[in-house]
Amino acid sequence: MIENRYSKQILFQQIGPEGQEKISRSKVAVIGIGALGTVISSQLCRAGVGYLRLIDRDFVELSNLQRQILFDEEDVRSRLPKAVAAAGKLRAANSEITIEDVVTDVTARNVEQLISGVDIVLDGTDNLETRFLINDASLKTKKPWVYGGALGSHGMTMNVIPGKSACLRCLLPESPPPGAMQNCDTDGVLGAATGVVASLQAAEALKYLVGREPRPTLLIIDVWDGEFVELTVQPRPHCPACDKGEYEYLAGTRTSWTTALCGRNAVQIVPPKEHQIPLHELQERLSRVGRTSYNGFLLSFEAEGRELMLFPTGRAIIRGTTDEAEARTFYTRYVGL
Ligand SMILES: [Zn+2]
Repeated sequence: MIENRYSKQILFQQIGPEGQEKISRSKVAVIGIGALGTVISSQLCRAGVGYLRLIDRDFVELSNLQRQILFDEEDVRSRLPKAVAAAGKLRAANSEITIEDVVTDVTARNVEQLISGVDIVLDGTDNLETRFLINDASLKTKKPWVYGGALGSHGMTMNVIPGKSACLRCLLPESPPPGAMQNCDTDGVLGAATGVVASLQAAEALKYLVGREPRPTLLIIDVWDGEFVELTVQPRPHCPACDKGEYEYLAGTRTSWTTALCGRNAVQIVPPKEHQIPLHELQERLSRVGRTSYNGFLLSFEAEGRELMLFPTGRAIIRGTTDEAEARTFYTRYVGL
């Protein structure tokens, strides 16, 4: 066989020359180009996926370099958008494929367009709200997607194949209240954990693209304790998304509501539902990463040149920006959506 860039992959019998041909004709969207998304897009680009759409709303920061493998110090200095920085690195790694970079916040308004024309969607996001949006849009358009998430030393992944498998809302019927979930900005994450989860996601995508049966389970891993646990998730009867076809996140009835507050250099975020957040507990976590104060009514938190004022219902005002996408990123990072 003539040596080419894919020869080692073609020698792998489950792919072979036919599989490689299918991979080169495939189109994939990766949503979120961070710890998971950089590893996923790197592997799929090098594997020869013919078209990659890289979607991200954020720019590169120093604390990303520990695990977001496509970025370097120069990207931090030039504050490049992650999608743009990643696309540049990947075009240099494989000039034979098409790579599109899209710098945008994924919302109910644009998610269907963002996943249009691709064969499969890979989740590299860091929040449940966007994942539920991807879940709705993927079910509505009958497009498979691969869920992935990691925190600390553990992570999980699951394939959602419309009409065949359970969906994310079968696994998590309701999103937890803001502040209830741990996240990597207050609890940390190992690059080894995100790397393993992302590699599993990329392998599942390749399997799907060459026509193999995707894994029907939720796979939970811990790289510190060396654990792999596989669970079967049954489609949930009356699941609003995959059984009833009620796409509540896509309809915007469950998504948060963001408004720039004119002339105040601030943005207000209102979650879709009112909650009772234990602010003193959240203060304890946030005090590890910034300045906090709690006056019994609202929690204020300062970091990255911004101030967040959080009310117990989950409503927040973020000072120091008028950019709604930036404010959502800040809120997602420290409070969670
Ligand atoms: Zn479902």
